[in-house]
Amino acid sequence: MTSQRTRDRLVERLREEGISNEAVLDVIRNTPRHLFVDEALASRAYEDTALPIGYNQTISQPYIVAAMTDLIISGNPQKVLEIGTGSGYQAAVLAPLVPKIFTVERIKPLAEQARQRFRKLGLRNIRASYSDGTEGLPEFAPYDAIITTAAAEKIPQALLEQLSPEGGRLVIPVGGPARQTLTLVTRTGDTFEKAGLDPVIFVPLLTGQA
Ligand code: SAH
Repeated sequence: MTSQRTRDRLVERLREEGISNEAVLDVIRNTPRHLFVDEALASRAYEDTALPIGYNQTISQPYIVAAMTDLIISGNPQKVLEIGTGSGYQAAVLAPLVPKIFTVERIKPLAEQARQRFRKLGLRNIRASYSDGTEGLPEFAPYDAIITTAAAEKIPQALLEQLSPEGGRLVIPVGGPARQTLTLVTRTGDTFEKAGLDPVIFVPLLTGQA
């Protein structure tokens, strides 16, 4: 159920759904998603669906991870910040494609579990911390790209400020709890250009540490 064949099948499905970036498809093929969910759910890890990870949170659907990764890496970023580590899967998918990844999570046990997974998988270019992502991560700013995997009613100002002024890209679901629009913000100097992409459903971005 967690074999290479089931992963290959997932990749074929993503291709049919319109993911065409071969580098992204390769990473999805090689990333053991079953190690990012509870053992009881491992047999469902290569279905194209979100799955619960405890604490009322979810690991995102592979299609969304692939689509967001594609958006993030198309700017060829050297340094990426992820808000909402969750299981750690999205960061693990970025790891072979981006030299340095910072990821923050506001639920401590999730942050710790993800850190253990990164260690076990030898993903040394991910730095995971327990903090409130609505503040960004100012100590390592600016970032070439910021990916937010929880939904914001309004884009946090700190994230805009921490984007590189030279084409920094922010990918973030914007909207209320029921439905959001995946939004791409591109910064050039003090200009922020916003583009609304697909409708998506993410858990809400919460303020403060849990
Ligand atoms: N990227 C994750 C999916 C995460 S679900 C994965 O690949 O598994 C969204 C995550 O965002 C949850 O774990 C939630 O706890 C976290 N989150 C919500 N608000 C946050 C905040 N203000 N700062 C950091 N993380 C936050």
